[in-house]
Amino acid sequence: MSRFEKRTIGDATLIALQDSWATLPPTAFFGAVEEAAWDPYRDLLEDDGKMVLNIGSWLVRSKGQTILVDTGIGGRPVQMPLHDPPALPSVMRAAGVEPEEIDVVLFSHLHYDHTGWNTTEQEGVNKPLFPNARHLVQESEWQHWTNTAKSRQAARYDDVLAPLEQANLLDLIDGEHDITSELVGIPTPGHTPGHMSFVLGTGNERVYILGDAAHHAVQITEPTWSPNADVDPVLSAETRAALFERIANEDALIASGHFTFPGLGRARRNGSKLQFETIASDGSTAS
Ligand SMILES: [Zn+2]
Repeated sequence: MSRFEKRTIGDATLIALQDSWATLPPTAFFGAVEEAAWDPYRDLLEDDGKMVLNIGSWLVRSKGQTILVDTGIGGRPVQMPLHDPPALPSVMRAAGVEPEEIDVVLFSHLHYDHTGWNTTEQEGVNKPLFPNARHLVQESEWQHWTNTAKSRQAARYDDVLAPLEQANLLDLIDGEHDITSELVGIPTPGHTPGHMSFVLGTGNERVYILGDAAHHAVQITEPTWSPNADVDPVLSAETRAALFERIANEDALIASGHFTFPGLGRARRNGSKLQFETIASDGSTAS
């Protein structure tokens, strides 16, 4: 199976890139949700009852810029039981993009499964993998993960963040931010304090790149289901509900790096609730 999938969004191109993927018990990931509450949603789980957690990034070509949204879990050892070795750099190359071509790296937030390939180790030194890219993150997010020794350790600061700072590749932004005339970053706090999602496209077709505003398709129907990983589970639930209402009202597309790959779909109305409906990509041949 191909680990990249392309879709055209108006004048722009969006490519789903799979770094790796895991499966885990849903009650372990959503600790506050009872096992029985999953009964109406068994079709969203695997045959063995586990949920898929894809580890994905997005490549955007917009207005002459080559943009990477999040950098995967990276090549260093992690605790997550991954089904495939993380391979974002080779998946990007298979999709026709060299790391040196990336003009902008956007971070939805700074959890380690979104910053892993910021650097690779060369002769014992962590070097930026995207040396020609400006790396954009919300200032509040940066402060949250760099203020204390404990948070720096959680964010693997020395390995994946400090080298960006040292190479002067880091730009801190505040609030809504235009990346190109058809790509904007919007604050979607809750999962982390400075969490950001991205809206690509204008007019008829637009797509919301969620980041970790949601992790599983079930949350489109059950936006109050906040995973253990949400720093503020009440705020994340409010953010999620508002975001999916907006997406449904605009009939926009959803792009999620954690939903089952490639993670593209819509929020369809079903009575008073919303429901995730997957859509096909244009195919896996990138140009
Ligand atoms: Zn994540």
